Amino acid sequence: MDRRFLLLYGSQTGQSEAVAEEIFEKAYEHGFRPDLHSLSMTEKKFNVEKENLLVLVISSTGDGEPPDSALKFWRRIRKKTLPNNHLSKLRYTILGLGDSNYSNFCQNPQNFDARFKELGARHFYPTGFADDAIGLEIVVEPWIDGLMDALKLQFSENIETCSGDAQISPLPDQINEIRDEVDSAKIDIKTQQPNITSKVVSNEEQTGEAKTVDSNNTAGDMVSSLLKSVPPIEGQIVIPALPHPFLELEFCEDESIDLNSLSLQNGAEFPSATTGVIMATLVASTTLTRQDAVKTALDVQLEIPESTMTYEPGDSFGIVCKNNDEEVENIIQRLAVSDVADCVCYLKLLEGTKKKNAAVPKFLATRTTIRHMLSTCCDIRTPLKKGFIHMLAEYTTESSEKARLQELCSKQGASQYTSFIREPSLSLLDILLAFPSCCPPIARVIEQLPRLLPRPYSASSSPLVSRNHLHFVFNIVEIPSTCGRQYGRKGVCTGWLSELSSHQLQDGEPKPKIAIYARKNLRFRLPSDPSVPIILIGAGTGVAPFIGFLQHREAEMQASKDFVCGPIWLFFGCRHKERDYLYRSELERLNSTGILSKLLVAFSRDNQDAVDKTKSPRYVQDNIRLHSAEVCNLLLEKNAVLYVCGDARNMSKDVNAMFSNIISQHLSISEKEADSMMMKLRQEGRYLEDIWT
Ligand code: FAD
Repeated sequence: MDRRFLLLYGSQTGQSEAVAEEIFEKAYEHGFRPDLHSLSMTEKKFNVEKENLLVLVISSTGDGEPPDSALKFWRRIRKKTLPNNHLSKLRYTILGLGDSNYSNFCQNPQNFDARFKELGARHFYPTGFADDAIGLEIVVEPWIDGLMDALKLQFSENIETCSGDAQISPLPDQINEIRDEVDSAKIDIKTQQPNITSKVVSNEEQTGEAKTVDSNNTAGDMVSSLLKSVPPIEGQIVIPALPHPFLELEFCEDESIDLNSLSLQNGAEFPSATTGVIMATLVASTTLTRQDAVKTALDVQLEIPESTMTYEPGDSFGIVCKNNDEEVENIIQRLAVSDVADCVCYLKLLEGTKKKNAAVPKFLATRTTIRHMLSTCCDIRTPLKKGFIHMLAEYTTESSEKARLQELCSKQGASQYTSFIREPSLSLLDILLAFPSCCPPIARVIEQLPRLLPRPYSASSSPLVSRNHLHFVFNIVEIPSTCGRQYGRKGVCTGWLSELSSHQLQDGEPKPKIAIYARKNLRFRLPSDPSVPIILIGAGTGVAPFIGFLQHREAEMQASKDFVCGPIWLFFGCRHKERDYLYRSELERLNSTGILSKLLVAFSRDNQDAVDKTKSPRYVQDNIRLHSAEVCNLLLEKNAVLYVCGDARNMSKDVNAMFSNIISQHLSISEKEADSMMMKLRQEGRYLEDIWT
């Protein structure tokens, strides 16, 4: 048997692809021969009807829909005309990636799972659902380990004759029995008070020797915990396989390069893009919050060249941002590559690399510079994956530091990895600063850094007001130097935008250009019939698209005397009336002109001590409750469309719960029945969310 199986991924931002590649590598090392493809290659590179064994890694986009790359495949297998034995030859498993901050967690992987079953395919290993809200690796790692065992079982049996739907949950003993030698390195750690001694007992490669951890290091609680195991990890530890090197950088000091002539991220397609990249001019930036506000919000106005991009209120667009210059410089210095950082460098595949399917990442130009890659192409803030940490440990000379890095990426150190790396989101530079004897070659670092992704923002303007101007609003993300983070930082994009705004919008300075592109959004739009009532609910920057909606309706009314606009209600929430009530004067104006039928604002911090919520509502949902009869009437009798925008972590869930509660009371039905009504509203496109974390 050739031990071949089909390995597919459906990726929007690259995460599913990265996980599929991880599976590919691991499977290959276990002697399997995965055939790896994007779902977009359906019928070109694979034909699922002809396959026996399939592993699918797929994510869910905001509304629980398939990623763009999976749409064609999804349409194919969804066809109603397909018989229910269409995939009866196929045994499969799915690893779904999602984020439980959003409603419909992993809805898309569930839909695929259900459809495969309807078409007669059967599981050979249970579907897994990994949650980005708590850490994908919590599910991904054990799921992949179990998959290797399940594949062994498949190939030790005759796939054709396996019967029954293999819903393996938990893994059957027989799979555990065939769990043989682990591909990863094993390390023995024996505690010898006050020091820890580690001994490498890898079956494949010797990844280190006896090491000693300095247990006297007590520089601050969290830092000391990052630097040493508290409590110590005892006994044998298992660390992930060392990623195979696959890139080589060749420097040509005599050549020069015009970095401005390079395509952005080597011309690689941007996620959810419906246009190419457009260079917009940042013409104005206005601070919408008072100095003593908890967060600083900026409204930015962009000028877009005539007819390059059309948008509608409710649309979002992507901003192709840059990493912080100082942070990039610090990485360059720390990796001791200052002398070549600005030289022309050729990026090539390392000759004789053992990495299967190795390729220069699509988002990197093959002729570039180190600084350019680190500034514009690579995500230098990504919390380091375990394989990355193992690689760093290999290039760490001080034995206690090396041992600690090995612990942090070990199976036994999983909870420490979560607490000290993932949760505080420690970046490459954090680790380099915390472990001074770690100095990996730049090529190994570039191999491990994922792509710097653009950030989406919702338009807070209407093209009817000015066709070639676009506004958006954002909070500057501030991330303090606590929890092991070695330096304070701003969010990548919001930090970059705020710097552009403050430094470059001086009189006489040329206005900065920023690269943007339109993103697909077919749902979060105003109803085509303007007489349909709308209910808008947003907190903080979630008010952005609603400003666009309101200005759009106002412009439509001004353009035609016969224009009939239905009632528009806005529920807005912020902390303090005087500090962070975004677009206050504009909202009050729109309310006074009658465009906005009802403006209801809740101030969470002004009213935090108020006993009577009916007089001093704290959150948007308090106001919804206070006006529940009218809101239910609009929604259930007048067929209003409801829009929720903003923070996915709390607000959208609280609003959802409030609606389920008020609908059940209004109609005297159970909350379960109210939930089904809400589901129906969602399906009909009358409960729309545009939320982000
Ligand atoms: P990043 O560098 O990406 O950092 C953000 C991350 O830092 C957070 O996810 C969190 O993990 C971490 N973090 C933040 N604060 C802390 C802290 N105190 N301590 C520790 N860690 C912390 N945003 C808007 O402001 N306005 C919009 O209109 C808007 N529209 C959007 C529309 C869509 C469809 C989507 C998906 C998102 C939208 N966003 C919007 C969010 C926006 O895209 C960015 O995610 C946000 O601005 C942060 O980007 P950043 O690069 O500055 O931060």
